[in-house]
Amino acid sequence: MQRRQFFQWSASGALGFGLGSNSRSNATGPFAIGSSETLRGTKSQSVAKNIIFLVSDGMSGGTLQLADLYASRKTGQRSSWMQLYETGQSPAGQPISRALMETGSANSWVTDSAAASSAWGGGVRVNNGALNVGPNGEKYQPILQKFKAAGKAVGCVTSVPITHATPAGFCINQASRGDQAEIANDYLGLKFDCMLGGGDEFFAADKRADKRDLYAEAGQAGFHVARTLTELQQTPIDMQPVLGVFHESAIPYALDHAHDPALQASVPTLAEMTRFALKRLASNPQGFVVQIEAGRVDWAAHANDTNALIHDQLAFDEAVQVALEFAAADGNTLVVITTDHGNANPGLIGTSGSNEKFDRLLDVRHTNTWVMHGLRENWQVAEIRARIEYAQGLQISAEEAQILHDHIAPLSAADRLNDRNLPFAKLANIQKKLTAVGWAGDDHSADYVELTMLGPGSESLTPFIKNYEMHNFLLQAAGMLVSG
Ligand SMILES: [Zn+2]
Repeated sequence: MQRRQFFQWSASGALGFGLGSNSRSNATGPFAIGSSETLRGTKSQSVAKNIIFLVSDGMSGGTLQLADLYASRKTGQRSSWMQLYETGQSPAGQPISRALMETGSANSWVTDSAAASSAWGGGVRVNNGALNVGPNGEKYQPILQKFKAAGKAVGCVTSVPITHATPAGFCINQASRGDQAEIANDYLGLKFDCMLGGGDEFFAADKRADKRDLYAEAGQAGFHVARTLTELQQTPIDMQPVLGVFHESAIPYALDHAHDPALQASVPTLAEMTRFALKRLASNPQGFVVQIEAGRVDWAAHANDTNALIHDQLAFDEAVQVALEFAAADGNTLVVITTDHGNANPGLIGTSGSNEKFDRLLDVRHTNTWVMHGLRENWQVAEIRARIEYAQGLQISAEEAQILHDHIAPLSAADRLNDRNLPFAKLANIQKKLTAVGWAGDDHSADYVELTMLGPGSESLTPFIKNYEMHNFLLQAAGMLVSG
């Protein structure tokens, strides 16, 4: 289909959007791939100068609940996200809108993060694994490119590599999400205003296959480059683009980070990165659009790592709080809080004894990933029992430890560093008896997911939307019209 796209940018005032009779997609149902001609909304609405789009990647409903229960038990206060639901408004009194969102991709009811972010980012469902590229090579312009062209400052913040699927789906076109070295290269050309996360392995000369030093190239291209928390804090707030890369791959899990002084000194939290990004992006007089992703919530769900999951969800919640505070002070900011898909569907399970068991999670220090990655060469059964007791206060039996030993001991040192080889599901199953937290699997799910908004444009949210409809929703919220 030949389609002409254009946008109009209006810097002031509310715009009316009449919806033509052909403006609704004729495709329906879970395999509807959508179109950028699909527009929803009211005939007139307020216009957002800024948009903060927060994604807890792979957040099943149970993840939201477990983190909220943890926060309530630990601090006596609900999570920031659930406080919005409980009160129906932000702490500053802004009313909230809420919906369920359908999350499929073009070829599966169960989406991956690349197709999910592309649905938002490009307005069209693509196949799993693709980034804003259709099955026949069609390219859909990513939303941050549209906003940048309209004069907005734009950026992404994430706790996984900045080249990972969810930020990439807002930024670039790539047939395969796996080519992160190439995505890093794409980012240098885009010169977006603030890109913060992990992923050193895709920028450093000694780790890239082509031996290019993308940090040096970014500096030559005019970026401020930050590699540590201190460097980020010292980065001047001016109109230069900022590239911040703070860890080899993903940023360490929030729980492990919180109990490691060296990491705390060198690696920013998601909330710290968010605070910087909002300050930097808000310096643009025409406003900004930013995606903030808690990417490791998804990784923790794949690993059935309950403590990693809860604490990274709470790290996300801190970033939500930063966004809410910004929006309250600013008054012209649309805040969107959501996830791209469910994952592994964890939950507190069992009508008897679950309260006491859940409370065992309150004083943990480290994740299952930390427990297994830190085992010494030729470790014996007693060592993993001691590590789990130290890290989590849980006592597993010698027989249970033997199950883990039988799985891990034959692995080479290199294979042990690959999480896919480690017995996460077996360990989670052992822990379930002690904590009452169970998992439905170790992969993405087709769940309808939570979508919460506040600020200008949020009043147009309808109770059920499809992920690809978010694209035009955001353009419309910012006063930009796409037509065909
Ligand atoms: Zn995933």
